[in-house]
Amino acid sequence: MSIQNIECLIIGSGPAGYTAAIYAARADMKPIMYAGMQPGGQLTITTDVENYPGYPDGIMGPEMMELFRKQAERFGTDVRYGMVTKVDFSQRPFKIEVDESQQLLAETVIIATGASAKWLGIPSEQKLNGKGVSACAVCDGFFFRGKEAAIVGAGDTACEEASYLAKICSKVYMLVRRDSFRASKAMQHRVQTTPNIEILFNTETDEILGENKVEGMRIKNNQTGQTQEIPIQGFFVAIGHQPNTDVFKGWIDMDETGYIKTLPGTSKTNIEGVFACGDAQDKVYRQAVTAAGSGCMAALDAERFLAANKHAVA
Ligand code: NDP
Repeated sequence: MSIQNIECLIIGSGPAGYTAAIYAARADMKPIMYAGMQPGGQLTITTDVENYPGYPDGIMGPEMMELFRKQAERFGTDVRYGMVTKVDFSQRPFKIEVDESQQLLAETVIIATGASAKWLGIPSEQKLNGKGVSACAVCDGFFFRGKEAAIVGAGDTACEEASYLAKICSKVYMLVRRDSFRASKAMQHRVQTTPNIEILFNTETDEILGENKVEGMRIKNNQTGQTQEIPIQGFFVAIGHQPNTDVFKGWIDMDETGYIKTLPGTSKTNIEGVFACGDAQDKVYRQAVTAAGSGCMAALDAERFLAANKHAVA
């Protein structure tokens, strides 16, 4: 097992991680980034990003993350593909294991591991995952061209994905468990005025139907208890996200849902020298631009920490 001693390790490669990398590299902290399971993060599975300042005509999510990566590499960030599989934050330098095969020693760690999609948790969803069930309309909508699909959720993501699917599919059912949306007014308006989106309020999924591919769904009105079966070929889930913080459990203070706690107004965690940014520690704003801003904070906090705790780094 090879061991490498580094000054600043960045875990995760979304807007938070790359922004931290840009700042850390420019501050000569020689950052090494492990890109994780989904290099580029959640923006790589989205389409148009229209609310990130500096792109007046919008930009596609994957292209934007490609630009982030290039900018981070331009200043010397070492971007590597791999997963952090274990950490030991009991003392500095911190011990980090990558892909269960490589060990790193890091003076500072910036956690930017983001969040992942949540699932409904019904058996048919698992059985038919990849066979018509998906949590990413942008990735898989293509397969349902001209077909009928359903999407669960009532937040901005569900609205965005319903609009996306409506351009591809002949019909999109939107299953909303309450009698109202959670999404912003603008996004609600968009789905409400799209002719081939049918919004079903107070509606929950009983079961997704089909053996080897999705053929329909049995849904239930939670006010009347009435169920009905509707033929569909695609079933999309857009009900929020779970922070990717399991590997840090037991070391880093988190809330009950796994979001990392940071000292208000900073990126500092309960462990000195370990910083957190982006969606891994933010369940409120969760925007690319806020993630990027918090990545900047993490790099500045790490830089100041290193300056105050001078260590010889091999
Ligand atoms: P949210 O947490 O905002 O919404 C999740 C939705 O899923 C809610 O409507 C919730 O219902 C519903 N839900 C949760 N669990 C279930 C379940 N088991 N069955 C049925 N429905 C369920 O997540 P989003 O991913 O939509 O958004 C996350 C954040 O990202 C938000 O802050 C959002 O504003 C932001 N965002 C912004 C975008 C933009 O500005 N372009 C695009 C996408 C996201 P209920 O309302 O009843 O709790």
